[in-house]
Amino acid sequence: MLERLLRTEGFVIATASDGEQALAHVATKSPDLVITDLVMEPMGGVELCGRLHEIDRDLPVIVMTGMTDRQLVIDCLRVGAEDYLTKPIEWDAMLFRVNRALERRARKLDEDHLRRTLNERLVLSSIREQELADGEARQRAQLNALLESLHEGVVIGAPDGRVLLVNAAARVILDLGDAALPNIDALYARPVLDLAGVPIPNEQRPLMRALRGEAFDGVEAIQVGGNGAKRHLVTMGTSVRDEHGEVVLAIITFRDVTEQKKLEQQREEFLALVSHDLRSPLNSILMALFVLKESTKNASFTHQDVVKIAERGERNVGRMTRMLDELAEATSLELGGVPLHQRPADLRKILVSALEGIDEARTRRVEIADDGGAWPVLADTSQLERVVGNLLTNALKYSGPDKTVIARLTRQGDEVRLDVVDEGIGIAPESTKILFERYGRTRAGRAAASGLGLGLYIARLIVDAHGGRIEVASEVGRGSTFSLFLPLRAPSPAKLR
Ligand code: ADP
Repeated sequence: MLERLLRTEGFVIATASDGEQALAHVATKSPDLVITDLVMEPMGGVELCGRLHEIDRDLPVIVMTGMTDRQLVIDCLRVGAEDYLTKPIEWDAMLFRVNRALERRARKLDEDHLRRTLNERLVLSSIREQELADGEARQRAQLNALLESLHEGVVIGAPDGRVLLVNAAARVILDLGDAALPNIDALYARPVLDLAGVPIPNEQRPLMRALRGEAFDGVEAIQVGGNGAKRHLVTMGTSVRDEHGEVVLAIITFRDVTEQKKLEQQREEFLALVSHDLRSPLNSILMALFVLKESTKNASFTHQDVVKIAERGERNVGRMTRMLDELAEATSLELGGVPLHQRPADLRKILVSALEGIDEARTRRVEIADDGGAWPVLADTSQLERVVGNLLTNALKYSGPDKTVIARLTRQGDEVRLDVVDEGIGIAPESTKILFERYGRTRAGRAAASGLGLGLYIARLIVDAHGGRIEVASEVGRGSTFSLFLPLRAPSPAKLR
């Protein structure tokens, strides 16, 4: 095949079936180049090279070799072979090397004519090499562009522990920054947890599994980022094997499904909410209606009984309406931000009118503590009144009827601070984290069944929109302090008389 191909390139070829015949050709035909196999009987390539060079010291010899004949190649080069080619032989590489060897020879022999034609050949074949290289580079660029544009993270690793590729999405998801390509150890510096929160040992992590030749899909795990943030990942893994079946590359792709999982959880919570919390007042209302209907048939019901039942129904309608309002409000706050109409206001006045909104029997327990000064803030008063009202009602609801609730105003740097302090049941530390989240309730809150756990969530959204913040400190059995911080409004410039 080589012979035929070389002929089509315009070379004149003589073939020999063994070393002796080759030596005879060289003596009689004075070739410009010899191409030979390495492992031959009875005369091997090394010996042939040596003997060819005894005949013609400048005769270029190219040996063809398999991957395993390294030492033989070195020996050949040592006894004067010009170059070598590795099998399987690629035609373009072959032609390039042949032309190069011939050119060297031509230079040595100083044959002008030969050199000219060879130069042409060289230019042609190097153009072809360049084209090949361009094609490859283009393909690689396309592949890179594709990988970089994926939302899925892609990591490719090799069995020797090198990481060959980490695409842009993977860098973000794994929180790698733009440091150089890490090895697998560096990639595994951050822990990965299973869904129960237990760290997954390195050898069980997806890339290692893929390197062992496992193929898998839909594996869920939690990746812990540099700042401790957790991401829920779904990973797929596969590998590429060589002709001996050995894994040479492992590829994993993964998606960040944190948001999706959160939405799923919210949907479940919402369903639980509708089926339980909203249904229970509805059931009470149904019950009241049923008893009312019965009362028309039963003479033992007094006028007062009927009024009481109707009032119970009304209370439950009220409760349910409040819940639905809160639900709608929380959702619209989330979607559209908080629409605020901020004006200069005084936090003490807001506190007082919030108290006026709560029935008097209960507010008798509330004490306002401040130094009597002004508490200027920039506020949407009706919104902030609701927030403060919510803190006060909670403090009253979750503390005994004989306990005082203190609303204390203080200044802290350039902020106004309002503490609502109760001596009630308190909140366990693990619950304080979720109170300001959607549907965040404690067990006591759930049992009281008064709301959906949206009050403090809405409060936080409103306070955030005011540029302030809301915090809680609490101890079970001792009481809670909810603190509201708002930026102090700079006093308006004094009017000139
Ligand atoms: P809801 O609208 O259901 O009342 P909130 O968001 O106002 O919910 O409060 C969330 C939860 O926080 C309540 O269910 C309750 O468990 C707890 N909580 C709020 N304030 C207090 C407090 N002062 N003392 C103890 N628990 C409280």
